[in-house]
Amino acid sequence: MTQPRPLNTAAQASEKMAKLRQTYVLQLPRQLAHMQSLLDRMGDGAAQAGTHTYADGAPAAELFRLLHNLKGTGRSLGFSLLGSYAEQGEVLLQDRPAQWRELLQKCLQQLLSTAQEQALLASNTPGSGFALVNDPQVQAKAHGRLVYLCDDEAIMLEQLAAQLACFGYEARGFTDPQALREAFLQRRPDAVIMDVHFPQGARAGIDVLLKLREETGAPVPAVFLSSRSDFDARLGAVRAGGQAYFVKPVRANVLVEALDTLTHHDQPEPYRILIVDDEPAVAEYHALLLQQAGMSTHTLHDPREVLQTLNTFRPDLVLMDMYMPHCSGQEVAAVIRQDVQYVGLPIVYLTAETDRQKLLGAMKIGVEGALSKPVNPLELIGAVAVRAERMRTLRGLMARDSLTGLFNHTVTTQLLERSLAQAQRTGGLLSFVMLDIDHFKVVNDTYGHPMGDQVLIALSRVLQQRLRSADIIGRYGGEEFAIILHNESAESAAQLIDTLRQDFARVSFYNGDQEFHCTFSAGVAAFPEYQSFEVLREAADQALYRAKRAGRNRVLLSTAGEPQ
Ligand code: GH3
Ligand code: MG
Ligand code: MG
Repeated sequence: MTQPRPLNTAAQASEKMAKLRQTYVLQLPRQLAHMQSLLDRMGDGAAQAGTHTYADGAPAAELFRLLHNLKGTGRSLGFSLLGSYAEQGEVLLQDRPAQWRELLQKCLQQLLSTAQEQALLASNTPGSGFALVNDPQVQAKAHGRLVYLCDDEAIMLEQLAAQLACFGYEARGFTDPQALREAFLQRRPDAVIMDVHFPQGARAGIDVLLKLREETGAPVPAVFLSSRSDFDARLGAVRAGGQAYFVKPVRANVLVEALDTLTHHDQPEPYRILIVDDEPAVAEYHALLLQQAGMSTHTLHDPREVLQTLNTFRPDLVLMDMYMPHCSGQEVAAVIRQDVQYVGLPIVYLTAETDRQKLLGAMKIGVEGALSKPVNPLELIGAVAVRAERMRTLRGLMARDSLTGLFNHTVTTQLLERSLAQAQRTGGLLSFVMLDIDHFKVVNDTYGHPMGDQVLIALSRVLQQRLRSADIIGRYGGEEFAIILHNESAESAAQLIDTLRQDFARVSFYNGDQEFHCTFSAGVAAFPEYQSFEVLREAADQALYRAKRAGRNRVLLSTAGEPQ
């Protein structure tokens, strides 16, 4: 899978943008000379009676396209005067009033002199003339999830912290709210779990949180624990910014569910946006804006490569120019829509076209929307993000198992095939793990099916928390899971899964007051020892089978990888 590009700093982006503008205006005189030669090649432009079809055909159409592009690009890059002249030229060419040729000639000259002036200006004042998004919020966050626990019962604190650690949280316990406060000011946690009542005073914990919130300006995501369940106690917690409230005794797996939701937004995969535009400067400009907002972009100048790029880049949304040399954006959108796997892929036109009729016609193909050039940066980011998010949600619903939220069997299989093909291309490593809960039938038989479901959910949380976001975790069958680890040898994958095995074995489950534990067994096989999808899966399955026969609760390597 392609790694998201690192975020640009504002300074880097602004420098890039200055270069982009400079390069653009510097090449304009050459382009304007070409436009001039197109104008020279046009006939007298006589319209056929009663129509708007002109006899000068191809050169006129090409000149129109270039003027149209210049209008959009010029404005997008902050050259508003160029944009206005180009628009005048466009109108002249379309309407052909008296003396249109002379007027258009003049227009091209004005464009040339403006371009020359702008070239000088652009080289002297880098980075001026347009707004970049400079939002400090748009920053990558660190990966680990830190949780502060505050409760005066030291034993409960210890137990909860140990349980949370099994789910991959770094949990630090404090018996005194003041100690939590000091730690908070040193290092801000992803969430706080706080007892409501302390011996120091009924509201000691809540007051500390309220104060921290005031001082740091940071909303402190908080989960409250209390022995009370009455309205006033709950209200106090809500007022202190509590997003969840649990009556003691609280179980770790229930807490983890709340924590997962509260801290989930910390690690969004960047949206992947494909930008199709024949003009490199414009494509690059829009790419920069989106990258500033943390998105990952790919620009395509030749629309004929679109299908291949969709397959490799797998975007969440396509931003499409409407006028391009080989084919129109509308035609490219139609080609994309012909392929069933892209029926739901959002396509948004980004165009200098203002003719509503033409826009509506182009939308009929089933695109999601149209933005006009020059686009306001925040509007672009907003419009793209909201549609990309919806695509993510839909894709997620189709690809995921409803109980655990993991990839379903079909998608896991597809992802393994794709990952394997990629490893073959790049010569990388890849490990495949088959994992199965031990004596799961007994869990169901003893505690009931709903309890069995809780165990499945808990295991999936342990896996999700502890593996990297690039790793693929699937629910392969009932209580069977498959994991794909990129760039990991069988040995290191087995070690990693073994630490998860130990953690999972420590997770406490409760049926009423009855505590119990579960374990799993796993088999690991790796590419390149096993080359094809079938043999790799079979090898991991065999290793799992041997782990079961050897007594369960263990991780074994496929025989070929066994150090014997
Ligand atoms: P082993 O250690 O050999 O794997 O024994 P096991 O009991 O785990 O294996 P077996 O394959 O005999 O039983 C699997 C059980 O998992 C049977 C099935 O009812 C149960 N199961 C499958 N899907 C679900 C589910 O979604 N929820 C619950 N609660 N149970 C499920
Ligand atoms: Mg089993
Ligand atoms: Mg089984």
